[in-house]
Amino acid sequence: MEVRTRFAPSPTGFMHLGGLRTALYNYLFARKLGGKFILRIEDTDQERFVEGATEVIYDTLRSCGMNWDEGPDVGGPCGPYIQSERKALYLPYAEELVRRGRAYYCFCTKEELDERRKAAEARGEVFKYDKHCLHLSPEEVRRRLDAGEPYVIRQNVPQEGESSYHDLVYGDITMPNDTLDDMVLIKADGMPTYNFANVIDDHLMGITHILRGMEYLSSTPKYNMLYSAFGWEIPQYIHLPTVMRDAKHKLSKRDGDAYYSDFAEKGYLTEALINYLALVGWNPGDDREFFTMQELTEAFDVKGLNKAPGIFDIEKLTWFNAHYIREMPFEDYLAKAAPWFDRVFGDMDRKPDYRRLAELMQGRTEVFSRIPDAVAFLRCRPSFGPELYFNKKMKTSAETAPAALELVIPVLEGIGEWKEDVIHDRVMEAIAAAGMKNGAVLWPMRIALSGLESTPGGAFEIAYLLGREETLLRLRDALETLKKG
Ligand code: GLU
Repeated sequence: MEVRTRFAPSPTGFMHLGGLRTALYNYLFARKLGGKFILRIEDTDQERFVEGATEVIYDTLRSCGMNWDEGPDVGGPCGPYIQSERKALYLPYAEELVRRGRAYYCFCTKEELDERRKAAEARGEVFKYDKHCLHLSPEEVRRRLDAGEPYVIRQNVPQEGESSYHDLVYGDITMPNDTLDDMVLIKADGMPTYNFANVIDDHLMGITHILRGMEYLSSTPKYNMLYSAFGWEIPQYIHLPTVMRDAKHKLSKRDGDAYYSDFAEKGYLTEALINYLALVGWNPGDDREFFTMQELTEAFDVKGLNKAPGIFDIEKLTWFNAHYIREMPFEDYLAKAAPWFDRVFGDMDRKPDYRRLAELMQGRTEVFSRIPDAVAFLRCRPSFGPELYFNKKMKTSAETAPAALELVIPVLEGIGEWKEDVIHDRVMEAIAAAGMKNGAVLWPMRIALSGLESTPGGAFEIAYLLGREETLLRLRDALETLKKG
């Protein structure tokens, strides 16, 4: 039997990280077993239609390296793969269920339902549709349909007994039938609900394994009743734990940590995100942490899926990201970093040497969006207090610093070709000739140039990147400030 999985997102305009992880597990599961990965767009909720939302889905999956074998834009034998384009095929299935007594027409208006809901709530009960229309005579149903009255079709769920099924992650799930409601299958606009369409489509598309969020665990018995009513084989279920920010909070749009695009815009690398996301809810059974997509495919196993919610820890993701950035080929890093350098230096006539800056920054970049803050000191003259000159190890302070600056300023003024190695050699020669300690000169020089205790590169690199004019301006300025004390 060929394994067939599907990712079935609703086009909301954004790719939630939980959804992306569901897509990933569907993809890995199918690839591992040599099966097919299918993309289906679930857009039966037309009120929520968002322009361009399907492109967001296609672009995100493709840039993450998850290519689908069948789907809206690539086609396939079970198309169309967009539910709204399949609209006409659902009603006959619902009518067949009506004939088999497993569904019925319902004419209750929204007002009537609201009233009954309120009454139930006043009695302290949870409102569940009361099967009111199940008891209409066939003649009355016919008359009202012929009169063109708006209707929905509801599933007729037995209220006695219980229903069970086996989930490959959560084990045996049993629900008393009286907790299940007569859900709407076909809405008044003729569109199927998600609850109905997912069953019809999963069957027609030959889906063998359903991997989806655990929020569907409790409605699955109702779906199974539909499969059974048609005499169809029930697929295997693999429900997935929720992706959370921490034990109590979901990822949220407001905190900017819920969507793939939030992370792509901040300059997280897709490879790092996918690698980390795979581990939020699944473990390979050993202590490996770094995986390419190919390695994930080989390692993926349903046995490694957790029941407990997966905590998406941004610090951990950042750690993965820094690793992937360090491992990037230098030219790729430079290409990705340059637009972030431009945010700081883009409008300058004399920009720092990006290539050199990139060499110094690659090992220090955790997330690309943090680059501008880290290099801003090269653009803006620093302001800082004299205490920064104090370094215990180097035995430097605001008192010892003027001698250092007085030593290096004339040396730098005398340099003809402003190259890093020339700057290095001249300054080191002067330090040796003056019989001073390296740190006693280089620490204050770096502080004067950057106003920072930790910088990409040291005093020579910074002087080179700043250029002669700016370097001398900063050093003279610093010396003057120190002398004023
Ligand atoms: N369209 C549903 C969602 O976005 C899909 C659920 C499923 O995979 O069955 O949650």
